[in-house]
Amino acid sequence: MTQRISHWIDGRKTPGTSGRTSPAYNPAIGEQTGTVDLASAAEVNSAVATAVAASRDWRHASLSKRSGVLFAFRELLRERSDELAAIVTAEHGKVLSDAAGEIARGLENVEFAAGVPQLLRGGFSEQASTGVDVYSIRQPLGVVAGITPFNFPVMVPLWMCANAIACGNSFILKPSEKDPSASLFLAQMWKDAGLPDGVFTVIQGDKEAVDALLTHADIAAVSFVGSTPIARYIYETGTAQGKRVQALGGAKNHALVLPDADVDMTADAVVSSAYGSAGERCMALSVAVAVGDVADPLVNAIAARLPKLTIGDGAHPDSDMGPLITAEHRDKVAGYIAAGQEAGATVVVDGRSAVVPSAGFFLGTTLLDYVQPEMTVYTDEIFGPVLCVVRAKTYEEGLALINANEYGNGTAIFTRDGGAARQFQFDVQVGMVGINVPIPVPVAYYSFGGWKASLFGDTHMYGAEGMSFYTRGKVVTSRWPDPATSSVDLGFPRTR
Ligand code: NAD
Repeated sequence: MTQRISHWIDGRKTPGTSGRTSPAYNPAIGEQTGTVDLASAAEVNSAVATAVAASRDWRHASLSKRSGVLFAFRELLRERSDELAAIVTAEHGKVLSDAAGEIARGLENVEFAAGVPQLLRGGFSEQASTGVDVYSIRQPLGVVAGITPFNFPVMVPLWMCANAIACGNSFILKPSEKDPSASLFLAQMWKDAGLPDGVFTVIQGDKEAVDALLTHADIAAVSFVGSTPIARYIYETGTAQGKRVQALGGAKNHALVLPDADVDMTADAVVSSAYGSAGERCMALSVAVAVGDVADPLVNAIAARLPKLTIGDGAHPDSDMGPLITAEHRDKVAGYIAAGQEAGATVVVDGRSAVVPSAGFFLGTTLLDYVQPEMTVYTDEIFGPVLCVVRAKTYEEGLALINANEYGNGTAIFTRDGGAARQFQFDVQVGMVGINVPIPVPVAYYSFGGWKASLFGDTHMYGAEGMSFYTRGKVVTSRWPDPATSSVDLGFPRTR
């Protein structure tokens, strides 16, 4: 018996009626554990109608009332984070500590959004003209949607919904159909925190549901996180419909390792970043650019660490790395390793021959050296436990490689030279930069976003840019009646 995973509409679980479903697996055992409903356009339309009705009231909720709901939600999320982590691990496969980490980073966004009374403060200019005051306010958009990827089933929805709801919008989440259960847990917590029914909605589904959201006249804005081809599609379709869209795409993140870097610290950082969550992170370092004579010691130090990693069921406390999301994805990643080998890369560590649990979608860690920029292991986002090492003669050569890449999500430089690090921060065409920090995901009071094919739109996600994305600005120019100074004047108003 597999568990039925339904929608969440108007404050309750709502079974689908489309007749279309999709399987959800426990990737560590390779078995189907859930059957998720896939919404039809008609189901999306009725969910949007409840969200529209709820948004009419929610926009009237005072800032302190909204803030109170966010504080209550935060407490529930803290209290129930172990339960939620177990749900994430069971459907995604990542180890429990990693699942707890994504919940903790998502929670930061809730804490940020709880400061909404401060965050939505506008400006006020008294006496902008004689007897005239000018002030700015920000107002909610109405109903906004978030479409999220499989690799962060809690953190990415929280990047979006915490700010959207704090700003007074109704939020519709369309989570990944590969690990949909966490979305319903979040929905129940929003309800328990006192959020009115209809303000947070979950529509399970695939392209049909996404297209219905993208073309629905009552959806004012769409936030998307996922792969680049779909991000581009979401951006183009949503903006053509007149919607505000922020669409974050894929990545190929480079570490630039300078000759003066501490080799052991760098190897620890690169291994943690490249293989954590089995490489299924948009901020994973998947390429190490080794400059000059650091290459041999770096490759040796990374290779020495890999046999020490325990690969197994993420629910087991000893596991360092879990399985991949599906059997198809595991096979695709293995295919990239074969293609890299065929193209001439040196396979230093081969994940295909690693000893891994026989059931489940496991693949060992792979380290490829002497990777060339034209190889598919370099050009494509692999999204698996594969690290490519590219050797560069100079800083300039390494930098040019990073800047020529089609993606610009994250990068990191490893060096003890502050001047070189500062130069890199200035030169590199990437949205999020680490200096001896391998996964530079910004804290919630900054904003997250890449450059180039890693982001379509103008606004980064969460933080101040998130508050701006989920609100519209209005400026009021006001004068109180003063009959003594009133007259007809057809000239264009000047400040006096
Ligand atoms: P995906 O693009 O396959 O799916 C993302 C979402 O889009 C899901 O909800 C899915 O149901 C929906 N979708 C899939 N195909 C669609 C279609 N044809 N039309 C409309 N909607 C569709 O991505 P994924 O495999 O779930 O996630 C992994 C990808 O996400 C990687 O490329 C990774 O780099 C990226 N990612 C990026 C960031 C970032 O911040 N830039 C963060 C996390 C993940």
